Amino acid sequence: MKRLLRNLRLTYLFISHDLAVVYHISDFAGVMYLGRLVEWADTKKLFNQPKHPYTQMLLDAIPDLKFSGRPRTPVAGEVPSPITPPPGCSFHPRCPYATARCKTELPLPIISQSSQVACHAVEEQRL
Ligand code: SF4
Repeated sequence: MKRLLRNLRLTYLFISHDLAVVYHISDFAGVMYLGRLVEWADTKKLFNQPKHPYTQMLLDAIPDLKFSGRPRTPVAGEVPSPITPPPGCSFHPRCPYATARCKTELPLPIISQSSQVACHAVEEQRL
């Protein structure tokens, strides 16, 4: 796939649950939760400096010493139904940083030059 990408000057949209493959194949990566993009960034930046709590927890679950060094927080709780997602931030029932605001207000993406993240804690600089 990388050879085809180079030789034919293609652009891929590659969807996977295997984060190690995503790391090796992508220039940019996005993380989705219940159908919403919660974080998007240059792949190396996203893996080395994840901002969204869900991204941090996903990366903590990779058994790779290269991405360790932070305290590990496993993704707890059950995935809610995408048909009746929780109000506000749909990750709030599983998020250790959730506040009352998270339960009622959908976080909008904070867009910078090379990334975007949708999280009240990031916006409030609690993370
Ligand atoms: S918006 Fe709130 S609940 Fe959602 S990820 Fe950020 S801190 Fe957690």
